[in-house]
Amino acid sequence: MDKQTLSFQAEVQQILHLVTHSLYSNKEIFLRELVSNASDACDKLRFEALDNNALYEDAPNLEVRVTYDAEAKTITIRDNGIGMSADEAVAHLGTIAKSGTREFMSKLQGDQKKDANLIGQFGVGFYSGFIVADRITVESRRAGLPPDQGVRWSSDGSGQFEVESIDRPERGTDVILHLRDGEEEFLSSWRLKSIIGKYSDHISLPILMKKEEWDAEASKQVVKDEWETVNKAAALWARAKSEVTDAEYREFYKQISYDQEAPLAYTHNRVEGRSEYTQLLYVPAKAPFDLWNRDKRGGVKLYVKRVFIMDDAEALMPVYLRFVKGVIDSADLPLNVSRELLQESRDVKAIREGSTKRVLSMLESVANSEDAGEKEKYASFWKEFGAVLKEGVGEDHANQERLVKLLRFASTQADEGVSFADYIGRMKEGQEAIYYITADTLAAAKNSPQLEIFRKKGIEVLLLTDRVDEWMLSHLYEVEGKPLQSVAKGAVDLGKLQDEEEKKKAEEAAESFKPVLERLKATLKDRAKDVRATSRLVDSPACIVVEDGDMSAHLARMLKQAGQ
Ligand code: ADP
Ligand code: MG
Repeated sequence: MDKQTLSFQAEVQQILHLVTHSLYSNKEIFLRELVSNASDACDKLRFEALDNNALYEDAPNLEVRVTYDAEAKTITIRDNGIGMSADEAVAHLGTIAKSGTREFMSKLQGDQKKDANLIGQFGVGFYSGFIVADRITVESRRAGLPPDQGVRWSSDGSGQFEVESIDRPERGTDVILHLRDGEEEFLSSWRLKSIIGKYSDHISLPILMKKEEWDAEASKQVVKDEWETVNKAAALWARAKSEVTDAEYREFYKQISYDQEAPLAYTHNRVEGRSEYTQLLYVPAKAPFDLWNRDKRGGVKLYVKRVFIMDDAEALMPVYLRFVKGVIDSADLPLNVSRELLQESRDVKAIREGSTKRVLSMLESVANSEDAGEKEKYASFWKEFGAVLKEGVGEDHANQERLVKLLRFASTQADEGVSFADYIGRMKEGQEAIYYITADTLAAAKNSPQLEIFRKKGIEVLLLTDRVDEWMLSHLYEVEGKPLQSVAKGAVDLGKLQDEEEKKKAEEAAESFKPVLERLKATLKDRAKDVRATSRLVDSPACIVVEDGDMSAHLARMLKQAGQ
């Protein structure tokens, strides 16, 4: 192929503009992104080679090499992974196939910190090279293609890039960064090593750099012709728990999640028995921007015996735990397992069940802790993910009881943090049901006239304002033998809470209102099923309720909004 000049897809141009004009903090992450691409490329080769061993050619040891040239002001990241054909270079380095680009832009355009870290989060890591480089040249050859089908791709990060065919005997990819003026700090072995140590230590292949030595005579560092491995090159989850520090767990979390905040909790276990696997799972502290997308794949990476198989293996976690991040490494699954196969595998089912239980225990230990800091953590977890966890009450019957204990609500006694245990502990003598009301907002719930009689009698009512609440309650009828009862449905039966005298009064009132009720009924004939006297109101003259067993007014409104 002769040299061609092509334009970047419009989205890439926008990203490049942002990258080169906005990202000033955390510049060093460009190296993490490029090393991670190199490592991904090696993972892909290993995976494709399962069916075609010839792809290894004569270089079976997968590795990444990082070099720099102080005079030419370049840094090169080389891998002997899968490589790219010319078409792939054009497609992968000139367009973005992923969704989420728009969110990325709007995040960067907002007034938050212009943190380069954001870039990796949105799967556009390659372009982070342009934070420090005013030209990037990529030379590559795809494994399996002949040497004359190499490709050179090059761009200055403005609107266009060039591609041409080259001869390239070695399989894999070189990414050559031509540093901008002012970025010379990165032309240092010490600096590059420390960035790799910080971000890429866990990468399971060796990252090599040339050794350097201080030459006293010339009084400068001299690069030797000898390579050394600068990362630990051991998958973190495969190391013994006792040998991994808290700081390492946290750093690993950052790398796989791109979340700047420390995780809320994590759990690391080797499970043996019928099914053998290692799990390292994290609960984030903050919800991602696309938490509400139920189609979003989960955040758990699948490995089989240390070999990367796939990202976001949704079969490994129930949908309602889609916010969990981490790694599961199975010893039983075949290496060539596909997403489809995963859905059916019994081993995967066992892993999913085991991992779900682990995550729930992790949450329980935070939720039940006496420690004030932990309590606060749970409150913040609940704010971020509570509504998602509620989906589990309907979806995961096996764990329903445990999930129910993790639920927190607002009530007429507290604006947040009320558990069913708290509520049940405060139930009045003779109170048999757990009362709740659903509404769009907390204010609307609080101001409901239906609550009047409960306020007067000092009975607590749960105020439910999440969209999933109605749905959840359609799967949850009682908690610890106490039925859940809406205060906005049918005739509220206060049962033993109402004394004889009140009952009599209510009956008398109903009797004397009969003629009025008849007239109201006639007038509202097509618009109301019934008009009744009630004892549930104290200050308001009237309120609307729905028939027991009917959809609540709130749910009806929601469905209507959704166009149903
Ligand atoms: P992501 O890694 O999230 O896919 P990037 O912007 O980092 O996004 O990379 C874009 C794509 O470019 C990759 O998905 C891959 O197809 C290709 N690519 C980047 N670097 C390499 C490499 N070293 N070897 C092979 N392909 C690469
Ligand atoms: Mg990448």
